Amino acid sequence: MKRLLGVLLLMVTVSSWATPLPEVKVSKINDRIYALLGPEELPNKHNQGYMVNSALIIGDKEAVIVDTGFTHQIGLHLRKAAESITDKPITHVINTHHHGDHMLGNTAFPEAEIISSEKCREWVATRGQEALTLVEQMTGMTFPDTRPVPATRTYQTLTKTELTIGGVKMVMWVPKASHTVGDLMVYLPDDQVLVGGDILVNGVIPSLHDGFAESWVETLAEVEKTPIKTVIPGHGPLMNKEGVIHLHHMMAALYDAVDEGWKEGLTDSEIRTKTDLSEWEKLKRYDEMGGNINRIYMQVEEKNF
Ligand SMILES: [Zn+2]
Repeated sequence: MKRLLGVLLLMVTVSSWATPLPEVKVSKINDRIYALLGPEELPNKHNQGYMVNSALIIGDKEAVIVDTGFTHQIGLHLRKAAESITDKPITHVINTHHHGDHMLGNTAFPEAEIISSEKCREWVATRGQEALTLVEQMTGMTFPDTRPVPATRTYQTLTKTELTIGGVKMVMWVPKASHTVGDLMVYLPDDQVLVGGDILVNGVIPSLHDGFAESWVETLAEVEKTPIKTVIPGHGPLMNKEGVIHLHHMMAALYDAVDEGWKEGLTDSEIRTKTDLSEWEKLKRYDEMGGNINRIYMQVEEKNF
């Protein structure tokens, strides 16, 4: 009896310790591109930090994964999902920016070459540990297997570099600082697909916490001019060109409202009260809008100082 109880206790302990991660929602874009869509909530005990969208690009002999999740475990979870779609080895990992939800799962792909912007590499190398602390705080869990792994191949700001991996043409597009100082979008010209990182998010408030509003709007204008049928956003459901145009207009209108308000001598809270935010209110994480407006305000002020 005692032994049985011991076994039962062990089973309960093991099962509560190994709560499965939320499933990866696989969305096939074409025969060689898949979106691996993650949950949309911020890190919590239930999602264990899984909140990011990833992309799987399958070449003739090798495959590429874009963005690896917030922890080593999420990286493995994404790897398993990728391996259920293709038996081609994952030879390259691309990180769209330095935020932990996009890069802390890199350790799950030890044999892959890691690609990012040069600025992203610097952040991961020097500040990556902060992202791990953040996800541990938000989930109340510890992730001893997780550690930041910076890229070994990088691209400079304001460059577009065409690569062919496994026969798939892809452009490493590093725009002027937008969502972060070191964003990288992956554009697949033959497929007209863009993996946007958090420059393009759908259904959630874009985060300006580390962002640069004016150049973000410029980047969106450039994305709008690019032949694109499908965008895999950093968070939220897939987008089409209409979605890109809508986001561009919202961001541009917000920037202009803050810019005009500042020029009229209003404070950021006065601008917040005066601006029509009804389109933004429809989005998840609306509470981040106060911080976003404040951030734009400070950037406008800095520019005009
Ligand atoms: Zn993100």
